[in-house]
Amino acid sequence: MKIKPGPRGNSRPEVNLVWIKRDLRTQDHASFQRAESAGLPYIPIYIFDQRLLNHPDVSDRHLAFIRASIKDMNVVLSPLGKSIREFYGDSLTVFKWLNESFLIKNVWSYQESGIALSWDRDKAVREFFVENHIEWTEFQQNGVQRGRKNRKDWIKNWYMTMAEPLIVNSFSPQEDPIETKALDLSLFDWPIDIVPQNNPPEMQPGGQTKARHYLMTFGKERGANYARFISKPHKSRMHCSRLSPYISWGNLSIRQVYQFLKHHKNYRHHKRAFNAMLVRLRWHCHFIQKFEMECTYETKCINQGFELMQHDNNEELLLAWKTGTTGIPIVDANMRALKATGWINFRMRALLVSFLTHHLDQDWRKGVYHLAQLFLDYDPGIHYPQFQMQAGTTGVNTIRMYNPVKNSKEHDPEGQFLKKWLPELAHVPIEFIHAPWEMSELEQTMYDLNIGRDYPKPVVDVIGSAQVARKKIWSFRKRPEVQKEKKKILNRHVIQ
Ligand SMILES: Cc1cc2nc3c(=O)[nH]c(=O)nc-3n(C[C@H](O)[C@H](O)[C@H](O)COP(=O)(O)OP(=O)(O)OC[C@H]3O[C@@H](n4cnc5c(N)ncnc54)[C@H](O)[C@@H]3O)c2cc1C
Repeated sequence: MKIKPGPRGNSRPEVNLVWIKRDLRTQDHASFQRAESAGLPYIPIYIFDQRLLNHPDVSDRHLAFIRASIKDMNVVLSPLGKSIREFYGDSLTVFKWLNESFLIKNVWSYQESGIALSWDRDKAVREFFVENHIEWTEFQQNGVQRGRKNRKDWIKNWYMTMAEPLIVNSFSPQEDPIETKALDLSLFDWPIDIVPQNNPPEMQPGGQTKARHYLMTFGKERGANYARFISKPHKSRMHCSRLSPYISWGNLSIRQVYQFLKHHKNYRHHKRAFNAMLVRLRWHCHFIQKFEMECTYETKCINQGFELMQHDNNEELLLAWKTGTTGIPIVDANMRALKATGWINFRMRALLVSFLTHHLDQDWRKGVYHLAQLFLDYDPGIHYPQFQMQAGTTGVNTIRMYNPVKNSKEHDPEGQFLKKWLPELAHVPIEFIHAPWEMSELEQTMYDLNIGRDYPKPVVDVIGSAQVARKKIWSFRKRPEVQKEKKKILNRHVIQ
């Protein structure tokens, strides 16, 4: 497609924009579909917004994953003059700058159920688009519905969205508008000192090609044992789908995953396992729907009655949790595994939060960004509501307090996970590995491990601290402020 000059007297050629956010793929993509059929050249863009990047929920591992995803999309798009252009800077400045060189007619993007900052960015950008007669269309992201006040018919609508045919995108060649105008994008280059480096090989690589590989291997073989190993810290790494970063950053749409597995030839052989996974795709959207309706959950207790609860907030204990040096093996192994690989399973995430907020008596906000940065699949819509659910600050869910030693024995009985991530415990016999502080001095000498020197002493008594926490939180839940809020939450978020 050739670049057309703008209307008479206007030297700016007309273009459309595809604004990529958490939809880093080239199939089942509504924005690309609209752009291809609009009859104008278009520029796909990704903006690394400085203000958002400075927020404490972001980490280099996220940015490297996004950049790898863009690179992978460009394998498809670049030969056709449609490569995704990366901009580092302020979103509004980027759109103003583009609008000086081009007459932007349409912008297409997916809705983003993000934090308050991204919502504010979108409001500012919308104002600019309106002033400049630019049409901005936002498509519904997965099954999350904008503008809802409650959950009436939410599940029904979600299944309808999953059943819609996938969009089959095709791409035609065009004259690249950026190259035709010989635009210099260096104004929006990454500052050399902060440009994110590639993620290490221990982390899942970004991009739709890898995403499809994970999806296929799950359908073909890994998924058969999904339900059996979902809670095991070691075996879940192989038998969970591991699709979370690909879904969170949009390398795959949820509908692609849903339809692929529902129609897979193995579905009837592993119906229980596959269905257990498929229902979680709905949970994914269920949590994001909460956040879409209430993004204050990033910083405020879901049940605001809990704002009155006092915490010990001991900084040394917090540091021990963050650095994986609490002396409780399952807690430390998880934190170290997460740091190295960007992924642990659901139960272990819940256990880390439970340990932080209950056993260590920390306000949930003390650890929420730490895990957000470490999770390669970080999605605010799931992260904050889940974190608060595990911390007990919703006031509507049962309080789950995980006993770390019991969970360690139950889910890692051979200590496989512990030994991998805590090499200092490699020679500790299995009867002690879950609670090594129970070894006598003689036993410590025998197994060449000095508790306090080679591995920390436990920072809390796991049984005693849980008893105190349980009493504290259950009595707090009875307070009238909490009960009043509870009704409001049930009205708004409970599925009808
Ligand atoms: C404190 C806490 C924070 C979390 N933060 C995130 C986050 O930022 N991003 C994220 O994707 N998940 C988050 N989860 C949910 C869950 O732990 C991960 O989705 C899951 O472990 C990812 O692994 P998987 O892709 O192999 O999942 P699978 O078990 O194979 O499930 C398939 C997909 O379903 C969705 N899913 C699975 N479990 C849940 C769940 N409990 N709630 C919502 N969606 C779910 C995910 O999209 C996942 O990729 C969090 C859980 C907790 C307890």
